[in-house]
Amino acid sequence: MSITRRDFFGAGATAAASFALGRPAGVAPVTASPFWRVSRAGREAGRPAVIASANGLRGVAKALDLMQHGADPLDAAIAGVNIQELDPTDHSVGLGGLPNEEGVVQLDASCMHGPTRRAGAVGAIEDIATPSLVAKAVMDYTDHIFLVGAGAKQFALEMGFTPQDLLTPESRQMWLRWKANLNPNDNWLDHDDDVKGAYTHGTCNMNAVTASGDIGSVTTTSGTSWKLPGRVGDSPIIGAGQYNDNDVGAAGSTGRGEANIKICGAFFVVEQMRLGATPEEACLRALQRAVAMTEARLLDTRKHPRYDLTYYAIAKDGRYGSANMYEGAQFAIADAAGARLETCAYLFKRDDRPTGPVPAHALTH
Ligand code: ASP
Repeated sequence: MSITRRDFFGAGATAAASFALGRPAGVAPVTASPFWRVSRAGREAGRPAVIASANGLRGVAKALDLMQHGADPLDAAIAGVNIQELDPTDHSVGLGGLPNEEGVVQLDASCMHGPTRRAGAVGAIEDIATPSLVAKAVMDYTDHIFLVGAGAKQFALEMGFTPQDLLTPESRQMWLRWKANLNPNDNWLDHDDDVKGAYTHGTCNMNAVTASGDIGSVTTTSGTSWKLPGRVGDSPIIGAGQYNDNDVGAAGSTGRGEANIKICGAFFVVEQMRLGATPEEACLRALQRAVAMTEARLLDTRKHPRYDLTYYAIAKDGRYGSANMYEGAQFAIADAAGARLETCAYLFKRDDRPTGPVPAHALTH
């Protein structure tokens, strides 16, 4: 009877698995979870193909269409995330993104261009709705990779981006509700109805592969809502929020940035694919590493994380996969079969969600 690599993991035979994946001697194995789920074995997309966070459903369709008409993979992916950045009803990115604790919208974004092996990023940029395009301008027009804060905005203005107020009436309301419910002893009156939905998080990550196997990746976000001014998350950090290697594939993440930064998540996923993991296996392994690196205050008594994290990955040959910490999440994919949502693999079942107090970056699905 033949045993597949996944069977090895399922049986907990990590030693055999590490051999199969070519892990160098001395590198600690990642413990297999009994709750791995693979919705559809293989996840074989043809090329071109685009994978994204679920909010990128319209974007993957757009990016695929652009690549089918000859567009560069990074230009296509950025055009895809621009749809969300400019949509005031998506409170996780760009215009309408949720602000920091002082009511100021500060955006993060990064991108990588596989064929030319270049990267660009901006952190905590204000008043520019499309930080993904500013990140690409940093890549295209400077000898730097990462601009932040006032300098990033100044650069964007010099490049001709138009500044605008990114706080919409709706996102301002959400911020005010959060403020009003912060402290029962302050001078704001509590409105119980307002508490629901007061916290939102999210990001848009998109990774594209052309028909000829060239790769582009981009991540854009308003970050965790009500964050401290100046906080920069994982999204603009090359190797955390997104990463690609034109010889291997691309990966990106959404969810608790502080957990992802510590494991250089997107780089980790791409390196796992380089070692032979499928995109989905690579995403699951990154989640396991994130759990292993989680501080005690963010774990419940069963060592389940009190936060959410999702990885998205695509290989150079078009295979794709995504995994979320908890059962029930979806991702967007577009290929010859069209644009659609598919179910993420996961580490923990829905019923195994953490017990006890849930801090910021609560589970949202
Ligand atoms: N990853 C983003 C950040 O930490 C937020 C999110 O995706 O929820 O800034």
